[in-house]
Amino acid sequence: MDYAGEVLEGSPRAVARLISMLENEDPRAYEHMRKLYLHTGRAYVVGITGSPGAGKSTLTDKLAFALRKRGLTLGILAVDPSSPFTGGAVLGDRIRMSRLNQDPGVFIRSMATRGFLGGLARAAGEVIKVLDAFGKDVILVETVGVGQDEVDIVGVADTTCVVLVPGLGDAIQSMKAGVMEIADLFVINKADRPGSDQLWAEVNLRIEQDHEIKGGDWLPPVVKTVAVEDQGIDGLVEALDRHRDHLERTGQLEERRRDRARKETLQLVHDRLFRLARERLADSGRLDRLVEEILRRERDPYSLASELLESWLDIRPEDKEKT
Ligand code: GDP
Repeated sequence: MDYAGEVLEGSPRAVARLISMLENEDPRAYEHMRKLYLHTGRAYVVGITGSPGAGKSTLTDKLAFALRKRGLTLGILAVDPSSPFTGGAVLGDRIRMSRLNQDPGVFIRSMATRGFLGGLARAAGEVIKVLDAFGKDVILVETVGVGQDEVDIVGVADTTCVVLVPGLGDAIQSMKAGVMEIADLFVINKADRPGSDQLWAEVNLRIEQDHEIKGGDWLPPVVKTVAVEDQGIDGLVEALDRHRDHLERTGQLEERRRDRARKETLQLVHDRLFRLARERLADSGRLDRLVEEILRRERDPYSLASELLESWLDIRPEDKEKT
């Protein structure tokens, strides 16, 4: 099947099939990705991260409607780093049930990334490319912020929104654990709840303190929303526009994308080497025999690793001198 060709022609079925292949780490997927890659780079990617229950799905749903009203087409990717089941991620369910599901201008997908080689950034990065080549203008990537995962989203998003809610008590705490570094803008959702003004003030204070230390030319805006009531969404859209505009004007968008392409390329080489090693050593049983030799101290693992790499990659002595 020519999935790449079908994706480019606008077939949502081909998109879904290709994403499944990527999720299953089917190596054939990369043949299609090769063809699709040249058609990517047009979509704008917005990451939405925050604690479970912060209202990310509700917010994504309302934001998606607002962007659709402007005539933009959308890809929505809900990434659940904890769920072991593909296609059954809980995050996306609420969106899947919404009216957006009937809209041909919107493609919705949820995916689980546990166990995926390279984690969230890698899995989401591939799916984003498919949706980009599929012609979607904006791609919303929604993810639960759990440990490293919320930081990982920076690797795939042009703009990262961190969603906080009043009354959880951990908001400012979690901001100390790296969230300040990743947020291009903050959303205080559930602003109908008590404590939202206080949280708003606290977050702004932190942003100012951070800015004084680190400098930089962007002060993350803090937007209040009541997602269930569809309130504050215009403010969010406006803040997103401003950030995109800022990135484009200062050349930072290009810089972020260059950085991403560099990381992705290295990651691909890393994955290929890892797979090669797994095939040639572990799958063939050769590793077990070599380990016995290592345990008997007939060999050391350091020289073995060098020898294997040299033989697989056909490295000649003159190449080694260069590196
Ligand atoms: P997610 O886990 O971050 O995706 O959160 P959801 O979007 O599923 O929202 C969790 C719960 O919070 C749901 O019951 C929503 O209806 C509710 N919720 C979302 N936004 C708001 C809001 O602005 N105010 C209030 N009071 N509840 C909200």
